[in-house]
This record gives sequence, C-alpha cells and structure tokens, in this order.
Amino acid sequence: MTELECLPYAVGHADEGVCLLVQMGPYRVLLDCGLEDLSLFKDSSKQAPPADLVLCTHAHPDHARGLLALHRTFPKLPIYASEVTAQLLSLNWLGEDVPMFCHALPWRSPVEFLDGLSAELYPAGHLPGAAALLLTYTTSERPYTLFYTGDFLLSSSRLVEGLPLEELRGLKPDALIVEGTYGTARHPHRRQQENQLAERINRAIAEQQSVLLPTPTLGLGQELLMLLRSHHHFTGRNLDIWVDNTVAAGCDAYLDLLSYFPSAVQNFARHQPLFWDERIRPRVRRLSHEPNNGKTAPQLNHPCIILTHKSANFSQYCHPDTGPWLLLLPQYPGRVDSVESFIVQKLQTSKSLQSQIQAGQLLVDTYLLGDHCDGPGTTQLIHNLRPQHIVFVHGSPTYLSDLTSLEELQNRYHLHSPAAGVRVELPVGETFLQPAAPETHYEGELTELETAIMVTLPDALTSDPRWQNFADTGLVEARWQGEELVLRGLSQRELLSRDSETKVSVSIECCQNCLHYRGQRCWNQASPLFGFKVTPEGYCPAFEFSPSAIEGMLDDAEN
Ligand SMILES: [Zn+2]
Ligand SMILES: [Zn+2]
Repeated sequence: MTELECLPYAVGHADEGVCLLVQMGPYRVLLDCGLEDLSLFKDSSKQAPPADLVLCTHAHPDHARGLLALHRTFPKLPIYASEVTAQLLSLNWLGEDVPMFCHALPWRSPVEFLDGLSAELYPAGHLPGAAALLLTYTTSERPYTLFYTGDFLLSSSRLVEGLPLEELRGLKPDALIVEGTYGTARHPHRRQQENQLAERINRAIAEQQSVLLPTPTLGLGQELLMLLRSHHHFTGRNLDIWVDNTVAAGCDAYLDLLSYFPSAVQNFARHQPLFWDERIRPRVRRLSHEPNNGKTAPQLNHPCIILTHKSANFSQYCHPDTGPWLLLLPQYPGRVDSVESFIVQKLQTSKSLQSQIQAGQLLVDTYLLGDHCDGPGTTQLIHNLRPQHIVFVHGSPTYLSDLTSLEELQNRYHLHSPAAGVRVELPVGETFLQPAAPETHYEGELTELETAIMVTLPDALTSDPRWQNFADTGLVEARWQGEELVLRGLSQRELLSRDSETKVSVSIECCQNCLHYRGQRCWNQASPLFGFKVTPEGYCPAFEFSPSAIEGMLDDAEN
C-alpha cells in the first residue's frame, strides 16, 4: 500500500479550476477548491465530507470559488489559508453575506492538524497572500512530505515579492505538485513586460485614444494601477485613471491589509495614498455610477484610462461622443483562442461596440503581464526542490506535456500529468518504469539554396494544436539563442502593426477592401468569419466593398 496518493477532482487544464485530494496515510487533505459545482462530493455516500481538512493556496476564483458552497454543505470541515488569503476570499462572492469561514495560518511555521499530519506555508509570489504548502505526515518509520506550489511566481511584481527559492533549496519532498501554466515557454523579464505595456498605453494616450483595461477583481488590476502610478511614462502626467466598483473592491481589500505588503509598497503608501489619489498626477479615481442612472458613466476627460472588470459592459464607456478607444486585453499563453472568443462574446451582445469598431473608433490589442513562472522558472524551482515525484497541474494539456517531455526532468524525477478523476499513486523509495514520453522532437533537413535556406520538417508537426497558431500567416522569424536557432511564427497582428502599408489592389474582393474589416478582424455578423482575425487577402461570400476601396478604384480609373 502506498502512503501517498493524489486524486485530482479538477486539474485546471482549461478554466474548470483546481481541486486536488491528497491522501497521506490515513488522512485526506483537499488542496484548493476551484470547482464551480460540488455535485462530485454530494454524490458520495451519506454526505460525509470529502476530506479531513481543506487548504487553500490563494484567493483567485479558480482555486477558491467552491469554498463557500463547500463550507455550507459541510460546516464542520475545517478550511485553512494564509491570513491575507482568508481576508481576500470574500471577494469571490461580492454582494453576498459571507461568514468568516476560513482559519488563518502563519507563514513558515508548521501547524499540526491531526496526529502526525502538519502543514507549513511559504509565500508563493503571484498574488498577495498566495502560499505554497509543505505537508508532512510522520509515521514511526519515516516522514512523508508533499509540496504543493499553488500558483507561483519567482520574480517580484509591484505588489508581491516572489517565491523565496533559497529557503526551499534542497527540500527534497517525496512529491511535488506544481503548476505548469506557461509550459516550457520563455518570457521576457517581468520589468520588460511592464515596460512594453507602459509603452503601448503611452502611445495610445499620445494619439488621443482612451484606454480600457478589463481585469479580474484581484491581482492584475491592482498591479496595473501601481504600474501606471509609478512608471516614468505616467508620473506627473495630467491624466485620470478610473477604476470601476469590482476592481475597486479588490483595491480596498488590499488597503485593509497594507501591513502585510512588501516594505517598498508600505513606504510608497507613507508618502501618498496607494490607490485613491486626486491630488498627485496621474489621478486615480473611483468610477461610481449615478444611482438613478446605472448605465451612463460620469463625465470623463479624454483621453483617460479605465480599469474595469472583465465581465463589465464595455459599451457604457466606449460610445461615439468619447473619442477613439483602445481595448487592451491580457494574453493567456497556452489558451490559443481565449482573446478571440472573449471579443466575439462581448461583441455578439453589443451592437454599439460593433458599430464602434466598424467606425474605427475602437481598436483591440493584447499585452503580456505574466503572473506565473515561465518554463525556465518552473524547472529552476524543480531542480532546487529535488522531489521524487512531480505531478503537473494547471495549464493546457499541450503545455503540460511539453514539461513532462523535458529530458532534464525525465532523467531525474517520476513525472505525472493526470487528467481529472485519475488517481495517481506516489510510491516512495521504490523504483518503477517511467512511462514513455510523447514524441516532441522533430528531425528535419537543411538545404542551402543560392539565395535562401530551406528547412524541411515532418508533417507530424502539424497535428499539434499549436501548429495553426504558429503557421497563422505562413511567415516565420528566426533568431539565434546561443548556438540554437529559434523559429517563431508571425501573427497577423504583428504583421499589420509592423507594416501597416501592406497594400492589396483596391479592386480585389478581399477582406482588406471590405466594409466590415477593422482592426484585422471581420465585424460582419453575416459572415462565418465574424469576430475572428482574418488575413487582408481573405475572402468570404458576405464581402462588400468599403467606401475607401471604391474611392481608390475611382482614383485609379481617373489616373
Ligand atoms: Zn492564481
Ligand atoms: Zn490559478
């Protein structure tokens, strides 16, 4: 019999959340509860609670949204988290009367819950209060240890210090459960990501565009505010930043917890208010709506910046009298279509947004401000911990399989990437055969021609779901990385922002000359391409000439 097992109820492959049951000897511990409904537990015989206790790593919905229902169903089941997380949890149920059901645990201090079973919390970066958990079950023979990262980030962001790797070096847990959100992808440094975003916003403001930034309630929105308040592009600038109710609720919760924040943040707050500031430029203000007229925003000076909840109705801000808008959406690497489907969903419910885009008054762009580790960060953590088993969760299956295919991991550790409902045994101290890894290396040939080089690769490459995105435009960019040559597919968006001069003859029936082509997308509801990125040369039966194409043709005819 194995003393260590993991039964994942939800593994965060998409947006279903994370909920993992861990069995340590006789004890069952539930790690996070991001399930949207709890029928999995209620079906179990006699309404017995699904675990002896629950530990929650942080307050994001994909880890916490099931906790209130869990508490209501099993009021005696104890739920624990860090002090800050315990305070932030209620933001998942805004407008509801939420009892204080979560017990706070200290940092870096083992707490024994049951005979021989203890847990210790380490800061995980990522979000204020986010914890990585070290679970220990001690028998007369030996201790069994399991380390669960939750969501983590090694580098520090504006409001959260990164996970303190040096404290965990050589921990050697029997099992590590680690998130793999970004797979093996390599991202620019956090500061570089921030600078790119600040640059983009700066450009928009200079072009008199107002900027709409949809965010979740907690984390990204507050990071963006701090970035806007402290980046040299914006400090001292005569500019209003408006924050809507939901994101403001997150800000207020942070203000109540200021004493838990990094000293740099507390220092900043000693000299000026952390968020709400009408005095120092750029001004940060609450966007509260008139009670008798819930649909119209207050009088705004444009250009301005608005932080709003991602589920908000954007058309209350973007309308014809407010000038051009730039809608900036956060990228979620690994979820190839998330930005596309988000926009399509928004637009299908708003005629006024559609007409804004058609009139060229609303532009859409994306940015990366990652709050998880990239691939090199993840492997760095693993090699520092040196576990026997690794269970990968939280990330698209292709990204997780990139991680389990890494030779540097396969050679050293037992790797698992379970689907929901698949029990994983974690035998300790025994040797067993490693399951064969999926093929991820493709061998090809180089042919040097007179003026170019041809790279030939096997067509198996195209069966990967990422291929379509990679081959989007049929164009690649190559760059040296040490001795290796890295190939990257170029996207429509990059092409067009790089070369907006791309000219297709005005007389051709193609997307470029179509009435419904705006911001590299199709905005014709009658077209099967509605809402999607299209190539300028693309075509569909719903094509209609745009006035500028007709004008161009008339000009050509005159010349
Ligand atoms: Zn998170
Ligand atoms: Zn998460």
